Amino acid sequence: MRYVIIGSGVAGYAAIEAIRSVDQAGEIMMISDDPHGYYSRPGLAYYLTGELQDKTLYPRTQDHYQKLKFSFLKGRVTRILRSEHALELDGKSRLNYDKLLIAVGARALPLEIPGSKLEGVVKLDHFADARNILKLAKSSRTAVVVGGGITALELTEGLLARGLKVHYLLRSDRYWSNVLDERESKMVQGRLQAEGVELHYHTELKEIIGKKNRVAAVQLKSGQTIKCDLLAYAIGIRPCLELVQDIDLNLDRGILADEHLQTNDPDIFAAGDVAQVFDPLSGRAVLDSLWNPAREQGQVAGMNMAGRKTAYLKSPPFNVTRLAGLTTTIIGAVGRGRDEDIVGIARGDSETWRDLPDALVAQNGFDINHMRLLIGEKTLIGAIVMGDQKLSWPLQKMIAGGADISSIREKLMVPEAPIADLIADFWVTWRKQAAL
Ligand SMILES: Cc1cc2nc3c(=O)[nH]c(=O)nc-3n(C[C@H](O)[C@H](O)[C@H](O)COP(=O)(O)OP(=O)(O)OC[C@H]3O[C@@H](n4cnc5c(N)ncnc54)[C@H](O)[C@@H]3O)c2cc1C
Repeated sequence: MRYVIIGSGVAGYAAIEAIRSVDQAGEIMMISDDPHGYYSRPGLAYYLTGELQDKTLYPRTQDHYQKLKFSFLKGRVTRILRSEHALELDGKSRLNYDKLLIAVGARALPLEIPGSKLEGVVKLDHFADARNILKLAKSSRTAVVVGGGITALELTEGLLARGLKVHYLLRSDRYWSNVLDERESKMVQGRLQAEGVELHYHTELKEIIGKKNRVAAVQLKSGQTIKCDLLAYAIGIRPCLELVQDIDLNLDRGILADEHLQTNDPDIFAAGDVAQVFDPLSGRAVLDSLWNPAREQGQVAGMNMAGRKTAYLKSPPFNVTRLAGLTTTIIGAVGRGRDEDIVGIARGDSETWRDLPDALVAQNGFDINHMRLLIGEKTLIGAIVMGDQKLSWPLQKMIAGGADISSIREKLMVPEAPIADLIADFWVTWRKQAAL
């Protein structure tokens, strides 16, 4: 049996670990066009700020890889030849597979305005991008950042940490409007301003102006010009679907996979950012661009490739991230609507976060510590915790476990209610019942 995995991200590696836990004898091959192999992509943000060094980005040791007994091929898969159970590598050689996992991830949407090919126009997908940004930052004084979601702020923070003056352009009047509420956006914006970031609202890029093939300024649709040496963008990502366009796999926004991570071809599986996975609980197929779901999907795909029948049960997506220096946990359904700064989905994002049914809101704390709860009829359906994170883990467990909060629901809804205390007390009792 030959298992082939395309992509060396967390989904691909989790699949290898799962296959080996079931099948000690089968041949496993991983192919990736990323020369850096498997590393923490969320960690790239902290690499930019200087808080993490190269070595700390690698979650696994050589020893671990050796125990998994797989071969790693550096190269690009250029075609999948389904009827022959084969792949074409770099447009030349061929490789056969019995079971195939497509775990090729997603890629930043390009900026499609004049000047976007100039040196100094940067994005943050891969390790190589992060290195390029650091190299260019050394000879830069001013940067402009466009886009939304977590990555736009990571770029902003990284460039600030490298001593650049940063202008952050927003198309609307506030940051990340389909996930954060107005007060949360204001908290983040206030902190960015305090760090020295110049925020520009209701602005849109018209053109990037170059000098000697390097970024020299940006021109806005209002006519204003901002001089800069770097233009960093994070306007959304898109699953990498080039390989599967013409091979009759079912596609929507990503590769459609059932709860076993299997596509409509029983020998081809898809997992991670490239996959749009059926969720039996909601009955819909959704895109996530989060590390944990990618890892869990890779695991389930690996088990099923090796002959087990394991279902992926999606838990409410959560992310612990940092927004303008403020640790923020986002769990379940928290917002809705459109954010003009992002097309589709961003990095570290989930479509489920914006799948908000009618819900009541309880919140308190608007300074450094803030919590917002989305309350359904009997359960919590989402939460945002900013600053103090004591309750983020309990909330995650209560939301995922569908804790019946009827006994505190009315109390939570009272204006100025001490919601943190109510949740903390409830958690003590519920945790015992749930045997956590
Ligand atoms: C800057 C940044 C910040 C992030 N922040 C967060 C966060 O805060 N929280 C969170 O949960 N998630 C975050 N994420 C997202 C998270 O890292 C991804 O969801 C996760 O890495 C997806 O894993 P994957 O295995 O599906 O794909 P990837 O990690 O994208 O791996 C895909 C691999 O496939 C390779 N590949 C693609 N096409 C081919 C081909 N044709 N041939 C060979 N190889 C190919 C690529 O080079 C790549 O190595 C962040 C990501 C980035 C980049």
